[in-house]
Amino acid sequence: MKFYSTNNQSHSVSLRDAVVKGLAPDQGLYMPERIPRLPDTFFEHFSEMSFQEIGIEVIGAIFSDDLSTDQIRDLVAHTLQFDAPLVEVEDDLFSLELFHGPTLAFKDFGARFCSKLMSLLLDGQEVKVLVATSGDTGSAVANGFFGVEGVEVVILYPSGKVSELQEKQFTTLGGNITALEVDGVFDDCQRMVKEAFLDKELQQQMVLTSANSINIARWIPQCLYYFYAVSRLPKNGKKTVFSVPSGNFGNLAAGILAQRMGLPIDRFVAATNSNNVVPDYLEGTPFSARPSIQTISNSMDVGNPSNFYRLLALYDGDEALLKANVKGFYCSDKATQAAMIAVKAANGYIMDPHGAVAFLGLKDFMAAYPEEYTGVFLETAHPGKFRKVVEETFGEPFELPARLEAFLKGEKKASALPNDYAAFKTFLVSKT
Ligand SMILES: *Cc1c(COP(=O)(O)O)cnc(C)c1O
Repeated sequence: MKFYSTNNQSHSVSLRDAVVKGLAPDQGLYMPERIPRLPDTFFEHFSEMSFQEIGIEVIGAIFSDDLSTDQIRDLVAHTLQFDAPLVEVEDDLFSLELFHGPTLAFKDFGARFCSKLMSLLLDGQEVKVLVATSGDTGSAVANGFFGVEGVEVVILYPSGKVSELQEKQFTTLGGNITALEVDGVFDDCQRMVKEAFLDKELQQQMVLTSANSINIARWIPQCLYYFYAVSRLPKNGKKTVFSVPSGNFGNLAAGILAQRMGLPIDRFVAATNSNNVVPDYLEGTPFSARPSIQTISNSMDVGNPSNFYRLLALYDGDEALLKANVKGFYCSDKATQAAMIAVKAANGYIMDPHGAVAFLGLKDFMAAYPEEYTGVFLETAHPGKFRKVVEETFGEPFELPARLEAFLKGEKKASALPNDYAAFKTFLVSKT
C-alpha cells in the first residue's frame, strides 16, 4: 500500500517513508491510497471475536502488503494490552472508556502501535524520536516507546509549565527515554525540534523521526476501538451514532476511517469546547484557523486542527457528504461542568471534562431523533488526569487510581537544557 499526501494526490510514498517522515514534504497529511472494505462475513462474526482478533483483521486489511501475518499479530498484541469497555450511562447511551492504558488516556493506543510499527519497519536501524510536549503527548509517547529496541526517545518540555503528574509520566522511566527540561515555553521546545529536522549535518549522523499525532502510525490504530465498540453494542435494530471529543480531530478521522471500511456507523458528532472552528465549518462557515482559547478540557484547546484535511479526504473531498455524516456541537466550560455534576448525581458516573463535552454533544443529537439511535461517547481520559478540575467541579476531594499514584512515587530524572539550539544539537550528537 502506498500513502499519498492530502496536498498532492500524485505524491505517494511507502509505508516506511510515511511513518518515518510523519508529515509529507509539502506539509500534507499521509493517507492510504485505498481504503479496504471488510467482508460481510467479518461483520457477521465480529461480536464473537476478541478485541485482538478484530484488530488483526482490521490492521491486516490495511497493512498486509507491507507486513507479514506474524508482524501484524505482534503489532496488534503489543497495542491492545488493555480493554476498552462500554459502560451504559443512560438507556441506549454508552461511554466507551479509552483510559485503561498505561497513561490513562486514549493516546496510549496510538503511541503503542506507533512504537512497535517503527521498530518493525526500521529492522535494527537505530532511530531517535524527538518530541516537544506541553504535557500529554510526552507521557503517551514515553510510555509507548519505553523499552523498544533501537529507538531512543528525547522529550523536550518547558520547565515549570507541565503538571507534576504529567512530568512524572515521562521523566521517571529512564532507559531509552530521556527528558530535557527546557528553560523556555512550549513553542521554544517545538522550535528546537523543528530546527533539528531541518539540520542536514545532524541528519547525516542519525535517523531522526517524530511521533506526533498526525503520523499515520498513531492515527490509523485509533479506528480499532470503534470496531470493537460496535461489535459489543446491543443488537436492538437502532442506528449508531458516535460523539467524539475533538481537538486535532485525529480521533474523529479514525472513526470515519472505520465507517469507510464498512463499519455500520450512521452518524458522528464532532464535539468541541469553545475552540469551535470545525463545528462552525459544519454549519456553513468557511474553514479558517483561529488562535486557541484556554478551557477546562485543555487537551482540546486547538485553534488550527491539523487533521481537518483528513476528514475531507476520507469523503473524497465531498464537503456535502462530510456535513451529512458529521454534526458539529460545541459547549462552554460551564455547561461541561454542569453535565459532569448532573451525570454523577443521576447515575453515579464520573466523566472527565473531555468526555463530558462529548456526552453533551451526544445528548443534543439524540434528543433530535427520539428512539432512533444507540449513542456512544468517547471517554478519552481518566478523570484523575484532570484532578484539579474534577475536584473544583464536585467540590470534594477525588482519589487518584493506584496507577496514577504510582507515577507520582517515581523519581524525576531530567537534564536541564538552555533555550538554545546549539546546546540541543551538542546533546544529540553526544548521545550517538
Ligand atoms: C488529545 C485529546 C483529545 C483530542 O483528540 P484529537 O484526536 O486531537 O481530536 C481529547 N481528549 C483527550 C483527553 C486528549 O488527550
